Amino acid sequence: MTRVVGVIGGGQLARMMTPPALNLGLEIYVLAQNSYESAKIAISELGSHTDPDAVLAFARECDVVTFDHEHVPQEVLAVLTDAGVNVQPHPQALLFAQDKLAMRTRLAELGVPVPGWARVQSPAELDAFIAEYGSRAVVKTARGGYDGKGVRVVSSAAEVSEWFADLTGDDALLAEEFVTFRRELAQQIARTPSGETRVWPVVETVQENGVCSEVISPAPNAAGRIETVAADIALTIAQGLDVTGVLAVELFETEDDRVLVNELAMRPHNSGHWSIDGALTSQFEQHLRAVLDLPLGLTTPLAPWTVMVNILGGPLSGDLDGALARAMREYPEAKFHLYGKEPRPGRKIGHVNVVGDDLAATVAVARGAAGFFQD
Ligand code: ADP
Repeated sequence: MTRVVGVIGGGQLARMMTPPALNLGLEIYVLAQNSYESAKIAISELGSHTDPDAVLAFARECDVVTFDHEHVPQEVLAVLTDAGVNVQPHPQALLFAQDKLAMRTRLAELGVPVPGWARVQSPAELDAFIAEYGSRAVVKTARGGYDGKGVRVVSSAAEVSEWFADLTGDDALLAEEFVTFRRELAQQIARTPSGETRVWPVVETVQENGVCSEVISPAPNAAGRIETVAADIALTIAQGLDVTGVLAVELFETEDDRVLVNELAMRPHNSGHWSIDGALTSQFEQHLRAVLDLPLGLTTPLAPWTVMVNILGGPLSGDLDGALARAMREYPEAKFHLYGKEPRPGRKIGHVNVVGDDLAATVAVARGAAGFFQD
């Protein structure tokens, strides 16, 4: 019988799971809030991911339920597991991608290298932390942040006074050492419920204003120690947290050659979009295989370099079709992935992948092709 994979959330990640689901002969059902969302072709139910009745009704139709984002509340996930729904990754693992304080606490227990950090509940505690680490610190809300929202570099607790004012009960903020990193890396791994794992090469990610703009696979000058350390960290986390599906570990490579964990995502991630055109098995296919406990595919790169450039904002004139046609004509070697989203300043509406033998030339083509979408 055809297996049904249910995805909660109708964004571009659910959309990009659709082609490999079709190729593997699976059914893909998506629960989305609105019918016009990016994964519209696969949307089977409309409803909120915070509504337990809607989520349970959707989940009952699926052999396995997985995610496009990490915003499904634990209370809703508990309703699913209580009803015997096969949820991958498990809610206990997903918690560590939902709550940065829980994640820092657990990674410290596992002995994984992280920036200096503290749980702070009052401005006085934050000011003490800033004094301990020099003159500044990074403050993060424990939950709900994405693309740099909920992250602020401060030199005094007064700069996040409204975040403290919003805390209720036992809530706290995460204070972190400001890491002077050489660059940011990301390591992706897939793990099945049976425990099979496969890693992709560690990649370099470039952020602008807290949003990923480019990814280079593999990360230049990472062969050897950095590549091994990054893969070991991802394996330790995947096994230690019992993660299933794709796990992306965002990393800092410091000026003094250390590799520290910044963030976790337990789903396909922007840092792995290159794999659609640059690896034997893409992160989207691998995620489906992993959550279904099927054998994993090889992650072998298809070329020496793959460069991914995000299309942020899109043509302000609104002429997306014209931009696409011009970019295709100029760069027939580029692979375009558009998410069916309306252009809006700063919004991720697609990405371009380019493979090649020469890094500088590959970067130039990928940037050139993506550049057609900014007018
Ligand atoms: P989000 O969950 O919004 O993606 P992150 O925790 O990944 O937030 O932080 C967003 C960006 O802020 C990072 O990619 C990095 O560039 C910067 N950043 C985060 N933490 C630190 C830190 N401790 N030191 C220096 N820069 C940081």
